Amino acid sequence: MSFPCWSDEHRAFRETVRRFTAEHIRPNAERWQQEGFFPDELFRKAGALGLLGIRFDPAWGGSGLDYWYTVILVEELARGRDIGCVVGLLVQCEMATSVIHAHGTDALRRDWLVPAIHGERIAALGVSEPGGGSDVAALQTTARRDGDDYVIRGSKIFISNGARADFVTLAVRTGGAGPGGVSLVVCPTDAKGFQVSRRLAKIDLHSSDTAELFFDDVRIPRRLLIGEEGRGFRYIMQAFQGERLVLATMMNSVCRDVLEETLAYTSQRKVFGQPILAMQAWRHRFADWMTRLEASELLTYRAAGELSAGDAHAEASVSMAKLYGAELIRGLVLDCAQAHGGYGFMEESYVARCSRGLQNWGIGAGSSEVMREIIAKRCMPAPGA
Ligand SMILES: Cc1cc2nc3c(=O)[nH]c(=O)nc-3n(C[C@H](O)[C@H](O)[C@H](O)COP(=O)(O)OP(=O)(O)OC[C@H]3O[C@@H](n4cnc5c(N)ncnc54)[C@H](O)[C@@H]3O)c2cc1C
Repeated sequence: MSFPCWSDEHRAFRETVRRFTAEHIRPNAERWQQEGFFPDELFRKAGALGLLGIRFDPAWGGSGLDYWYTVILVEELARGRDIGCVVGLLVQCEMATSVIHAHGTDALRRDWLVPAIHGERIAALGVSEPGGGSDVAALQTTARRDGDDYVIRGSKIFISNGARADFVTLAVRTGGAGPGGVSLVVCPTDAKGFQVSRRLAKIDLHSSDTAELFFDDVRIPRRLLIGEEGRGFRYIMQAFQGERLVLATMMNSVCRDVLEETLAYTSQRKVFGQPILAMQAWRHRFADWMTRLEASELLTYRAAGELSAGDAHAEASVSMAKLYGAELIRGLVLDCAQAHGGYGFMEESYVARCSRGLQNWGIGAGSSEVMREIIAKRCMPAPGA
């Protein structure tokens, strides 16, 4: 899509990511998904090209750019057709490290952020727990103070990069009940008592490792606290904005790829003597999806613009973009698979593979119901007020 604010710098960056995707992801995508893994080497390759720290301060090895570049990065990586691997890379550069960049001490940034930006250390974000993921303020993993240490006890689940991470940006309870008792720490995975309980088998995104983690009295120095004690909930909610923008962008990019492939297919494939695309029933259906996709992209771009400008409305826009994208991708991909007939049910078809696990888009990084709650809180009067 051409958008008025894309500059020559944006276009050059897009070209860089496009080349990276074409060279390192797309040719391996199907094999990685079959093998259920992508190599750690990809983090180093992305790091060497500067793709893992685009919004971070150049003093720490970042590029000092804004969310527009995040959008370009995600749009292009998603065209590599291995979303599991893209999730792994984006957890590294957006979800697990942005809080260290924003709130960590210089020592934390030096020891954990810088190697993550270079792709030399792999990061995971540990928020969700077996007892619940949506209600972050209710998390139960504890970090008890003991002299100069914290002793961590509890479990995390659905953690992307969890089986191979060198460290987890971990949400823990350091105080009483509710959001004010939540803190964030860096937990090295070589600490005694850290266990990957199991690698979870998913119905899609096979190349990304998703794990359940157990913290059996894991002792870490208190200097691994990120920011201030008791402010972790606030930091997580800020970081979620970038994470949700990433998800919204990924959905749009997958939709565009799938729609383009379907239009090419249906313009050639004939039924009853004419191309499928010549039939008004399909042409109109695709016209509707094209319109909704443009709307979704514009909503996402508005959210990127507001986040880059530090606009107070950004949380509502980000939530709308993620909610809208999750609704869009379900309908669009299923319709496109339908237009492929039997091929739309075969492993060899990218459109068919995209139709698996569609519900994940409305779950990860905050569910659609949680997005609706945020939109209602930000944009509607309090009931009865
Ligand atoms: C592939 C994948 C990767 C993930 N990666 C990570 C990761 O790296 N790190 C991490 O911490 N987490 C990760 N998650 C977890 C994800 O963030 C949670 O699954 C999500 O937040 C929902 O939590 P839950 O699964 O515990 O569902 P629950 O919180 O138990 O929710 C169950 C249902 O209740 C609904 N619900 C919740 N609140 C409301 C409400 N107010 N009104 C109405 N309905 C509501 C939800 O929408 C959902 O439909 C990942 C999940 C997946 C699937």
